[in-house]
Amino acid sequence: MIGNVYQTVCPGCNIGCGLYIREDEEGALSIDFMKSSPANEGKLCRFGIKLPEHYSKAVSMVDGAEASIEDAVKAASDKLKGADVTMLNVGNTTSEESLAFKAIADTLGCVVNTGMGVYSELPSECHPTVGVGMSLSDIESAKRIALFIDPYIQYPLVIRRILKAKENGASVVSVGWRNIHLADENKFIDPDKYESELGLDSESVIIADVHPNADPGWVKRMLNLALKTGAKIIFMKPFVNATGVDLLCKGTGQKGLKEIMDGINEGSIKTLVTLDSDLVELMPNSDEAAETLKKLDNLIVIASRDSAVNEIANVVIAAEPQYAKKGSFMNVEGQLLKNNGSGTAGIDALSSLNQNLGGEAMESASLHNKVLEGIIEKITKPKYKELACEVMDIGSMEGAKGNLVFLYNPFMWFDQKDDNDFVMVNLNMAKRLALRKGAMINLTSEGGSVSMRYKVEDMPDGLILTAKKIPAVTEWVATVSTEVV
Ligand code: SF4
Repeated sequence: MIGNVYQTVCPGCNIGCGLYIREDEEGALSIDFMKSSPANEGKLCRFGIKLPEHYSKAVSMVDGAEASIEDAVKAASDKLKGADVTMLNVGNTTSEESLAFKAIADTLGCVVNTGMGVYSELPSECHPTVGVGMSLSDIESAKRIALFIDPYIQYPLVIRRILKAKENGASVVSVGWRNIHLADENKFIDPDKYESELGLDSESVIIADVHPNADPGWVKRMLNLALKTGAKIIFMKPFVNATGVDLLCKGTGQKGLKEIMDGINEGSIKTLVTLDSDLVELMPNSDEAAETLKKLDNLIVIASRDSAVNEIANVVIAAEPQYAKKGSFMNVEGQLLKNNGSGTAGIDALSSLNQNLGGEAMESASLHNKVLEGIIEKITKPKYKELACEVMDIGSMEGAKGNLVFLYNPFMWFDQKDDNDFVMVNLNMAKRLALRKGAMINLTSEGGSVSMRYKVEDMPDGLILTAKKIPAVTEWVATVSTEVV
């Protein structure tokens, strides 16, 4: 770090693009590109370029009133003593803070949930492949690429790798809701035909993703496809340190996000502690999530930014912003990425909390050594882990019903203003609705109502696609009525 320039990592997704954040004397932030960054060679997607808009300083609070961080830690300790505690860390912060959080779980006798409930339904032999995929540069030498993500909406920097592969002679087939320009073929086919129609073999790469709301049956289907065709597979993830948290901190018997929310609604979860994991942002329906969280007896939020959940929390323990932290992250290909900040407010608060609860003090350097030990035991260098599991029985697939499809986006961008503030329909539907230039479509579901701009795309008839979290979204697929306004 030179002066107020921080060498850091974009928290937008698990690619972990390196960049510099510059903080001027008034605290205003701007970015500089970092050409030496291994994950992105200096490039950033449109989200990364707008990163300064994402950061906002969190404030420590106790029962709605501003407090010192020491008082917030003390209040959290009092609420946690003797309580039956559920803990959540999806991977939005450093591995060092995550290990400190896990130490608190050990002291309390509970586990850290990463929100990736899908792991508990997968054979443990395939966890390394799902957790740490392959080097992103390996995508460039594939002969054929099957895309199960939409890289224009999710994980945009993968596009560069795919274009390089195409320059090297690769063909690309995309399987998804809408046609993707860089693909040589776009297929919207029955999943049972993937093996016979996608033309995959041992020189191919499958690019899929896994996230807290991923359907376990779908993830198994992707793994089966890799097993049966011999293709390599990489699972992209939405959180910068999803890989590090999975390797170092996830607890056995952990719950997915929906299970946690169901537990709160049913009254079996009364105390929740979150580490940079805002369930209001993470769930598809923010209002519903906020109402659920209000049912908790105790919501303790440890946060590096000011986000929606902080307003509902009984206690907010405010750490420094992510770019200012001392620590490291692990990206989707298993690379350890360092943050050159010197901030340890988060670790110090977690250490005090652990001590108040009867555990040991912790400090940054020894936590970092533990990160290195823990990772070196599991990863010697970023390298593809051959799938070690058997083909899985997944039964028949039942598709969700509805006409509004929510295209999954990296979580942190859901609520930000973006070029994707429109819904997509095909030409037939635009004609049926008599959509004129400049018109808006009003979408109404039991979740709410919203008017959106529209864009005509080459996609299945009768569907409406949104890459934006809008009030009409209740689940990943919802039923909406439409009206032109
Ligand atoms: S690809 Fe992901 S990590 Fe890279 S700049 Fe975009 S959101 Fe950030």
